[in-house]
Parts: sequence; structure tokens; C-alpha cells
Amino acid sequence: MTAKELLILGGTREASTLAHAVLARFGNALNLTTSLAGRTERPGQLPTRVRIGGFGGPAGLVAHLVQHGVDRLIDATHPFAARISTEARLACEEARVPRLLLLRPPWRRDPLDRWIEVDDMAAAAAVMGRIGRRAFLTVGGGEIACFAVATGVRFLVRLVDPPRRRLPLRCYEIVIGRGPFTLAEERYRLERHAVDVLVCKASGGAATEAKIIAARELGIPVIMVRRPAPEPGDAVETVDAALDWLASQRLFPEPERVS
Ligand code: NAP
Repeated sequence: MTAKELLILGGTREASTLAHAVLARFGNALNLTTSLAGRTERPGQLPTRVRIGGFGGPAGLVAHLVQHGVDRLIDATHPFAARISTEARLACEEARVPRLLLLRPPWRRDPLDRWIEVDDMAAAAAVMGRIGRRAFLTVGGGEIACFAVATGVRFLVRLVDPPRRRLPLRCYEIVIGRGPFTLAEERYRLERHAVDVLVCKASGGAATEAKIIAARELGIPVIMVRRPAPEPGDAVETVDAALDWLASQRLFPEPERVS
């Protein structure tokens, strides 16, 4: 039996967990490749073939799917990586490759949370000046320029990699770190820097939830940027459910029945 080809669009903890879990459950029956955009300098270890860099839009992804004989695609990218998810849907429709979206569930709002939900980074920056003077900014490196308008705010900026050039903010300090973060360390960070507003994406997931809980405990308001709408199609929230989807795809011959 020839092994089937599975392409995982990754860049998240879920994608890495999924890769390990697929290998454990299906072994050699699946050839597994993880695709990364190449945004971080030190991506974690993956037990699969890894390809890095964009495909060149939906047409480029169609070419990749055909050239590599991809049988199934699982889009396990970040909830805010909307462009690649749209491209994956379009490409899979064109190449007739069944696709699953693995989308982590959003955080649940607690009655004690003081969330101000906004639609985008520009709106977050606009409300920030009215709410706080010392902000903890955890929106990722690509979105920081939006906050340049908040000139009266002192920023604590968390990034995965050290920036190559000065950030476009008047007053800031950088903390480098990759989740998961503990509640104790997030609480300590908010208190030590006298943070009075937290800005984040509604990413969901356990690895970065501690900051939300710490802000709740300390009564700190959170400017929460809403998620983009997910792509239509088959979708699950957990790695286990993604494995079940794969198992349901009839990729492998049924075991022979003994009568
Ligand atoms: P995006 O805006 O949706 O995608 C921008 C472009 O990057 C895409 O058009 C595609 O280029 C390429 N790309 C994105 N993900 C890719 C992947 N897994 N494999 C190959 N190419 C990919 O994505 P983004 O928000 O910049 O995020 C980039 C990556 O970082 C994603 O894989 C995501 O899972 C991860 N990530 C994102 C966030 C976030 O907050 N956005 C947070 C944590 C991790 P082409 O059109 O050339 O194919």
C-alpha cells in the first residue's frame, strides 16, 4: 500500500501536537509534511518533513498540492492567519483535496473580566489612549506600527524574536518569550511594570491564557481584538477530533473481516 500524503499548514502549537499525534496513530500509513510561513527564527522541532515559506498565493498552493500528490490538507494555522486559510480553501477546492480546519476554541469571558472588544488593531490603538498609560502589548511583531499613534502610552511589548530594528513606538520596553506562560509569571510581569491595560488578540488556547487570568485577578482592562471569521468547511477544535476526521476519510483499506 502506498502511503497517503498529508499536508499540515502549521505555525502553531496545535499543528505541532497534531504532527506528533498523527505519527503516533497512523505511523507509516501517512507521509506527513508541515508547512511553515517562516516568520520565527527558531521554529520548534517537528517530527515531519518541513517546508518553509509562502506558496505564492492559491495558484502556488494548487501547484504544490498537485506536484506532491497531497491527499488531505489540515489547516492548523493561527486563528488570525486569515489569508493563508482563505488561500487553503480556494486551493483545495480547485485541486479537489479534502481540507479540515483545526481551530482552537476562543477564551470564555468571565463575569469578572473587563474586556473591551474591538474589530482590529487600529480600533485597539484608538481606545487605548483613553484607557491606560502603561500597556502590555501582546499582539505580535507585525501589528505594532498601529500603536504608534498612542504617543502618551508606555509599552511593554512581548515578542517571540528580538526585533531587527527600533520599534515605531515612542516609549517602550521589550520582553522576549514564547508561551506557554504561567499565571505566576504573568501576574508578576503585570505588577512589576505597573501595567494598567493589556492588549491582545482573541487567540484562544491554553499557552497564552494566563495573562487573561492575571488581568482578571488584578482588575486590569483588556483590549481584545476579535478574531476574523473562520473559513467555511469541515472544522474541529481539538487535535483528537482532527485525528478522528482523518480516520473517517477512508484513506486506508478496511481491515479484513474474519467470519
Ligand atoms: P497570513 O497573513 O494568513 O498569511 C500571509 C502569507 O504567508 C500567506 O499568504 C502565505 O503566503 C504565507 N503563509 C502563512 N502561513 C503559512 C504556512 N503555514 N505555510 C506556508 N505559507 C504560509 O499569516 P500570518 O498571520 O502572517 O501568520 C504566518 C504564520 O504564523 C501562520 O502559519 C500562522 O499559523 C503563524 N502564526 C500567526 C499568528 C498571528 O497572530 N497571525 C500567531 C502565531 C502564529 P503565500 O500567499 O505566498 O502562500
